[in-house]
Amino acid sequence: MSKRILILGAGFGGLAAATELRKGLDHDHHVTILDRKRSFMMGLVKLWILEGSRRLEDSQTPLDGLKAKGIEYLNDEVTMIDTTSNQVQAKDHGWIKYDYLIVALGAELVPDRIAGFVGRGYNLYDAQQVPKLRDRLLELKRGSVAVTIMGMPYKCPPAPYEASMIIDSLLSSRGTRSSVDIDIYSPAPVALPVAGPQVSASIIETLSQRGIRFNPSHKLRSVSDRLEFENGNLVDYDVLVGIPPHRAPEVVTRSGLVEGDWVVVDRSTMKTRFANVFAIGDVTEIRVGNVGLPKAGIFAEEQGKVAAKQIISELSGKPANAAFAGQGYCFMEVGNRRAGYLEADFFNPAGPIIRLEAPSEQNFQKKQDFEITRVKEWLL
Ligand SMILES: Cc1cc2nc3c(=O)[nH]c(=O)nc-3n(C[C@H](O)[C@H](O)[C@H](O)COP(=O)(O)OP(=O)(O)OC[C@H]3O[C@@H](n4cnc5c(N)ncnc54)[C@H](O)[C@@H]3O)c2cc1C
Repeated sequence: MSKRILILGAGFGGLAAATELRKGLDHDHHVTILDRKRSFMMGLVKLWILEGSRRLEDSQTPLDGLKAKGIEYLNDEVTMIDTTSNQVQAKDHGWIKYDYLIVALGAELVPDRIAGFVGRGYNLYDAQQVPKLRDRLLELKRGSVAVTIMGMPYKCPPAPYEASMIIDSLLSSRGTRSSVDIDIYSPAPVALPVAGPQVSASIIETLSQRGIRFNPSHKLRSVSDRLEFENGNLVDYDVLVGIPPHRAPEVVTRSGLVEGDWVVVDRSTMKTRFANVFAIGDVTEIRVGNVGLPKAGIFAEEQGKVAAKQIISELSGKPANAAFAGQGYCFMEVGNRRAGYLEADFFNPAGPIIRLEAPSEQNFQKKQDFEITRVKEWLL
């Protein structure tokens, strides 16, 4: 019997899941992916746009490429998920029936949750704003740049540190670095709570070698001519770079899939408590001790593959033995086209193991390959 597997969200996780499903299922079964965007761009490309080695207009790959891979792509907005009648409502396509559903809608950014930020600050996670931020930094002669983490959790925990080091090299190449201060403000007491105190200390050391100050326990309350923090500190700034608060997409919350702040899943199978409904990537929360597994593409991808393999096993009547293992890695940029390598095993029975390798040009090259190989496999 022909089945329809519906994937909501053609981002990192959704594309990985669709590719895996198409590889493992015969063409009697339909794989459909729905997204309001017409193209895909990996989050990490925003850092290259900031650095100046990429342009936004050259970095988007059309989702139309899915058709040639045997995957149906619907360009639409999800407006409701009904897990009792196995249907999803989309703005233009109406109600769509599914046999299996994979929710891969990511995390939503809420910059207006911090009064005064919109209009005064640049949202580092908004691809449209990054070129404008770069232009502003290039014209800055003196003053201060404030890089502010406005809420926890946020995707790609090292990204604000990478952006700060890219800003450092950008200003150095313009000859203005010595007259510009760079400060990072975070609500957390250490740089990367999920990576523990040792890795956090080594990141702060790398930042301080570049004259970048890390200000822990600074939760932004509001923005005017100054930044006002909840600890009472008032700070002047010339350029404000913000990583806005994140939340589960409104449609996921409205549809009753969220418990606490995010979608809860079985951490091995990615199954939700709803029949035949999986959730993967940034929309989910997997607790590791008293912190959540970082929101990162590498995990969304792996979880997408696991959900796909679970469905393939069920449809072919074979035992489902694919399991998400909580392992991943990322390349942490330090400016001047060099990157460190961060490797993690979050489900290690004796506690998470996180290893940070020193920056090198080879790691930066590997980061570029990381993007190219995936875009090719998923869309070209
Ligand atoms: C600056 C930056 C650097 C990063 N660097 C790295 C890195 O080096 N390594 C790494 O692993 N991760 C990195 N990440 C994180 C990574 O991009 C995310 O964790 C990853 O994209 C999450 O995948 P996802 O599939 O859960 O969600 P997403 O990739 O965000 O996809 C969600 C999709 O759902 C769609 N959608 C949402 N709501 C609706 C709706 N109502 N209707 C229709 N469509 C909808 C969106 O348009 C989107 O395409 C970085 C992120 C940023 C911002």
